[in-house]
Amino acid sequence: MQIHAIADDVFMVSGIASNWTLVREGRDLTLIDAGYPKDLGAVIAAVEHIGNRVEDIRGALITHAHVDHVGALPQLQEIHRFPLHAHEHELPMLRGEAHEQATAADVLPQCWRPRTALWTLTLLRAGALSSIRLPQTQAVRTGTALDLPGAPVALACPGHTSGHTIYHLPRAGVVLTGDALITGHPVTSRVGPQLLPALTAHDPVGLYDTLGSIAQIDADTLVPGHGPVWRGQMRAAVAEARASAAPVFTRPRP
Ligand SMILES: [Zn+2]
Repeated sequence: MQIHAIADDVFMVSGIASNWTLVREGRDLTLIDAGYPKDLGAVIAAVEHIGNRVEDIRGALITHAHVDHVGALPQLQEIHRFPLHAHEHELPMLRGEAHEQATAADVLPQCWRPRTALWTLTLLRAGALSSIRLPQTQAVRTGTALDLPGAPVALACPGHTSGHTIYHLPRAGVVLTGDALITGHPVTSRVGPQLLPALTAHDPVGLYDTLGSIAQIDADTLVPGHGPVWRGQMRAAVAEARASAAPVFTRPRP
């Protein structure tokens, strides 16, 4: 686990294979995403490392319902119960009524690639096959500052999943892009703003289109769901990701 101080009272934490973020205001914390089930210890350690306690978490924001982003939340809720928020279109997945995640059947044909095979093994050890249920999650209000530490603003950014949401911290000039826009991934050698492989996206074309809303945000720091922090304007990040996107992202819908 690595903790990166991104801005005043904004900390990105890199876990086994994904990032989550802590935003502090006074003693209070907002947690955005929470790694894999096996990241539980790292989530708690990160909170304590910055001088807080798990009991300081006032609420968690979820970018999307995949196991590498919500994995530690059920166990955290047993330690300290705090409200959970995600986009309303993500709630059926959190209730276990719908699934939008690449399955073993999607990934296995790619496993002849050494990078992918090693990666798959890491994920299995991290708890990738666990099914996460968080039926208590509430629908997040989008477009206005939320009543949570750091006053984050939720913006729907569908494509990776139907209810994928990004979080803007206007005071800090930071955007938490989840898996809509990443900056690096073990299955590729590319570094910099980019899209996850298309097989992980529920709607690749929709994802490509929705990047336009990220480009319009006035912020100079991008904290992705995977990869290192990236400094620069969102417009430039989106342009770079679009320029390197595979053709499947721009193919006209039938
Ligand atoms: Zn992810």
